[in-house]
Amino acid sequence: MPNPFQQRTIAFQRNERNVFFHILTACNLSCRHCYINPEQHGTGTLPEETIFAWLKLFAAPDKKTNLIFLGGEPTLHPALPNAIKKARKLGYQSITVDTNGYLHNNLLHKISPADAVLSFSLDGPSPEINDPLRGQGVFAACTENLAKAVSMGFEVSVIYTVSALNIEHLAAMPRLLTDLGVNHFFIQVIGLRGKSAAPSDNFSQTLQISHDQWLNTVPKVALDAAELGLHVIFPKVFLGPDEPFECAGLVAENFFIFPNGRVYCCPLCEDYPIHSYQIENNALILRSGLIEKNFFPIAIPEGCIMNKLLQPGSLNYQENGKPCHLISCCLLKQEMTRIEK
Ligand code: SF4
Ligand code: SF4
Repeated sequence: MPNPFQQRTIAFQRNERNVFFHILTACNLSCRHCYINPEQHGTGTLPEETIFAWLKLFAAPDKKTNLIFLGGEPTLHPALPNAIKKARKLGYQSITVDTNGYLHNNLLHKISPADAVLSFSLDGPSPEINDPLRGQGVFAACTENLAKAVSMGFEVSVIYTVSALNIEHLAAMPRLLTDLGVNHFFIQVIGLRGKSAAPSDNFSQTLQISHDQWLNTVPKVALDAAELGLHVIFPKVFLGPDEPFECAGLVAENFFIFPNGRVYCCPLCEDYPIHSYQIENNALILRSGLIEKNFFPIAIPEGCIMNKLLQPGSLNYQENGKPCHLISCCLLKQEMTRIEK
């Protein structure tokens, strides 16, 4: 019988750009694994006219550009609805708002379903799993607003950040999401950045998941989700022996913009002042000196150079010194979907 499901690696598209725009760093929550690092990203909130100017700076109507509004919590910014509308006029192909679910400033009544996709963060299928990570009462608030958005016709996705603290509960997510009317499920792996990388305790070790844990859990849950009709995206993380390694910093266009004007091309670098660009007077300036771009061409047997430099604890070696597994670019994704006949 033919397999009605398709799993494929989403190769980096040469003519596609992704713009991850942090319009502020403030947030009403205080998640245990928050990746925002105020020392590096500032505590600023961009004025509306600066948001417009920077949207113009990164617009490229001749290319397919996906825009993702982030924070902190982007819906805390009262100018978000206007920014979404401005981005549409500037020709951004897709617009997504990544929200913790609180949907401040009455967002659902200030934009229409055609304006943006809403992506909700949930890190557990129940308050018992989600709330110790994201905060008391967050599961109830997030799922209530998510259901409201679905009932109003918005396209809705959910992001689940997998760590050792919640991986065993991932399997319960597909059923919850289909019950809530969600179409897209993004499974993320915990990034050891911001609070997750805090050296003061052993929190980063508590969060890390092994190669076997990942491969024994995530593809199976993705298949279950696809069987229920969800479109699932999850990071590749480990490359097989015959799979080529590519660094998105060399072959794709990704911009991670922070309110202090820093622009990174690689999210792993965000805890360090090695950003490739700085926005000055609303112009994008390529920096010199020690910047992330200098590292991207360095080829190593382990795969991703920044992973080896910044997260060496995630690597394992054989007795002969060779790495057990190649680490893929953190931006390389897999897709699991039901093939429509
Ligand atoms: S919702 Fe996002 S920005 Fe806010 S604390 Fe949680 S991870 Fe950090
Ligand atoms: S995660 Fe690694 S491979 Fe991907 S852009 Fe960063 S340095 Fe390159």
